[in-house]
Amino acid sequence: MKIANKKVTAERLVKDALAKAKHFADYNIFTYLNEEGALKRAREIDARIARGEKVGRLAGVPYALKDNFLSPEGETTASAHILQGFTAPITATAVKKLEDEGAIMIGRTNLDAFAHGSSTENSYFGPTLNAYDRERVAGGSSGGSAVAVALDIVEFATGTDTGGSIRQPASFNGVYGLKPTYGCVSRYGVVAMASSTDCIGFFTKTPEDMDLLMSVASGRDPKDLTTLDDYYNVSSNAESDDSRAFATTGAIDEASPVTTGASEEANEASDSCVRIGIIKEFDNDSVDKEIRNALKHKCELLKSKGHEIVELEMPALKYALAAYYIIVPAEVASNLSRYDGVRYGFRSENSEDLDALYSNTRDEGFMPENKRRIMIGNFVLSSGFYDAYFLKAAKARTLIVKEYEKAFKQCDYILTPVAPNPAFKLGEKVNDPVAMYLEDVMSVPLNLAGVPGLTIPAGKTKTGLPIGLQLVGPRRSDKSLIEFSKELQEDD
Ligand code: GLN
Repeated sequence: MKIANKKVTAERLVKDALAKAKHFADYNIFTYLNEEGALKRAREIDARIARGEKVGRLAGVPYALKDNFLSPEGETTASAHILQGFTAPITATAVKKLEDEGAIMIGRTNLDAFAHGSSTENSYFGPTLNAYDRERVAGGSSGGSAVAVALDIVEFATGTDTGGSIRQPASFNGVYGLKPTYGCVSRYGVVAMASSTDCIGFFTKTPEDMDLLMSVASGRDPKDLTTLDDYYNVSSNAESDDSRAFATTGAIDEASPVTTGASEEANEASDSCVRIGIIKEFDNDSVDKEIRNALKHKCELLKSKGHEIVELEMPALKYALAAYYIIVPAEVASNLSRYDGVRYGFRSENSEDLDALYSNTRDEGFMPENKRRIMIGNFVLSSGFYDAYFLKAAKARTLIVKEYEKAFKQCDYILTPVAPNPAFKLGEKVNDPVAMYLEDVMSVPLNLAGVPGLTIPAGKTKTGLPIGLQLVGPRRSDKSLIEFSKELQEDD
């Protein structure tokens, strides 16, 4: 709004953001800086304001775009060698909606190649450094986006969350990060990882900004048939049936006191007693002591505000990590089959015949973690093992969906850690895939169930590393979830 009031020009904001991006170059946040394009757009917006024309709700706001969103500005690489040289012919729906409101993309951010990872160390361009400790990981896969917001380069950044890739880097860098309800924001034009769990969301510094971005980005998109009706902005149709969005598990949204996402109800919720569930199974010694203390501290705060803490038993969540690392690689293997050296980006020099072209391109173009997932995915889908692995995992997923439905009969929201540890050291886990996967134990259950989760900054460790907690709600509760997160704010 500062811009529309002519207090500052869009050009000034964009120049400042670009200067900051360059100042922090050694954090390896950006894979591409959109200098010319961003300045051009800024000048256009300033000219429109000077002419007294109406501008959008995000007019002149600089933002960073995770490099797995398609748009013709710069190459879309998903931080993978195999996509180098690929310039998208289309614009992702989410990007189009942001830009229609006047937001200005100043750069594309680094990620684990194809979003496979929890540290941004699997990027072809090397790791992004943590905003608070340069010897530690940024988290991942959306590490670049989280650090761009944490270092105040941009007001907000986009992310994708398939199993925690927004919430975990948000918690490692002390910012807000939302994984919306599955289907709330269109996935059209975003490089697919696992289509049944991929969600588009944002990193921001405040809940208010998150709400604004969600009101811009959410809604049905004819180009993504898994999108839901625009319940985020329209409360009256919140009860409509959206079961088709979860055809893979047969999960059906059940009515719950806070599933409507209506702002009036959200306000009411914050004024009256809200029941917050705490998951018993997550309170154990494998979770960092300071994170457990931060959770206890927030529970006390909520109680002091008149809310109620409810202890939940959710035994089915113990299957979530195993189910996730079967279902997701299966979908990954399928989604990555299109990169063959013919249609997109990089092609191997060693391509004497067609088979060699395919296999050498894929061998040279994918990162080791990408290949690991392709192999696991094809294995669990193969005819001899499908029943033992994929089908079992799909059944476990249904149990997890039901477990959340049951939990949300006992409470309105759930509060848990985002990850068992704060940001770990660069190099500490990257050569031990299982140790890396274990970091996802608290974030992946939400993606399997399709429910929303918001990372909330919750103080720092004694050594100064950010701690994040996630507030989880029933499907379609995104708006009230963001509103309720304000109850957890304090001056710390
Ligand atoms: N860390 C998780 C994984 O490696 C989640 C990644 C994501 O959300 N894109 O699968």
